Amino acid sequence: PESSPQVLSIQSHVVAGYVGNKSAVFPLNVLGFEVHSINSVEFSNHTGYGKWKGQVLNAEELAELMSGLQINDLDNVSHLLTGYVGSASFLEQVYETVKQLKKKNPELVYVCDPVMGDNGQMYVPEELLEIYRDKLIPLADVITPNQFEVELLTGKTITSESDAIECMEMLHKMGVKVVVISSSVLGPSGCLTAFGSSQRSDSMEVWKLDIPRIPHLFTGTGDLFSALLLAWLHISNGDLSLAMVNSLGSLQEVLHRTSAYADAQVKLGKPYGAKLLELQLIQSKKDIENPPQTFKAIRL
Ligand code: ATP
Ligand code: PLP
Ligand code: MG
Ligand code: MG
Repeated sequence: PESSPQVLSIQSHVVAGYVGNKSAVFPLNVLGFEVHSINSVEFSNHTGYGKWKGQVLNAEELAELMSGLQINDLDNVSHLLTGYVGSASFLEQVYETVKQLKKKNPELVYVCDPVMGDNGQMYVPEELLEIYRDKLIPLADVITPNQFEVELLTGKTITSESDAIECMEMLHKMGVKVVVISSSVLGPSGCLTAFGSSQRSDSMEVWKLDIPRIPHLFTGTGDLFSALLLAWLHISNGDLSLAMVNSLGSLQEVLHRTSAYADAQVKLGKPYGAKLLELQLIQSKKDIENPPQTFKAIRL
């Protein structure tokens, strides 16, 4: 039998709750992917709580883990997934890792979520921008920036759909095959609008999808989204609209379940906050296995 796809996922770990690897590994496993996980931090809980304890992996420690995998020929993976990185030195080492993995497997698919900020604010050191732009993005096959991150990477302000398309074209020119803007404010009010663009031989295939905004501030959704997208792009053999519809369909179910749980707990007198809004991921296993076809993607 054919071997399962194998993902090396370099992301945060939290002891309690679901961000980073905690929100990516379960859905990947459920969808049939083996996952090697490197925990870039080990925190008690995500930073949205305001208080947390734990450790941060440094660049040397990442290199050491990668050399251990190499010694045992465990670095021959089909996919690499990276998310939030908090320092320039760690990101430089991620770049070394991409090169190592691509050398071992020239067919490696690298899915990069260039997490830098949201709503006009950067929440990582500024020097990460040029490392993403000049080093990581050119090696990435798939990227999942939000609107603000696309603006940072292209240096262009996006105020319309045609701006978004132009930016995705610029990102393709930098070498990326699939660009998915996970959320933007370009659609109808009350909606988050996602865009996806796939580079074909000399044209691009562009899709748009409106997602109704649920009135809560969730955490771990970006990490869940990039993992689902990786999985469905592989399973569908690169069918971008199917991958977006399935990923966002499952994600929306998780968020509806989470929102219903939080509302019910508040009614019972529990204080509203980050703890009540932890993703109801395990409870949503069936919706990950069989994504509800909630959304329709529109071809632009
Ligand atoms: P990054 O991980 O690069 O920061 P991002 O800012 O787009 O990306 P999120 O804001 O977590 O990440 O959004 C990812 C996806 O999660 C969106 O495409 C959307 O489907 C879903 N999502 C997040 N928050 C909500 C919400 N309040 N209502 C509905 N969907 C949401
Ligand atoms: N990793 C850690 C440690 C975090 O604290 C957070 C958010 O607070 C995230 C990752 C990212 O979560 P999201 O997927 O919502 O971008
Ligand atoms: Mg966001
Ligand atoms: Mg995010």
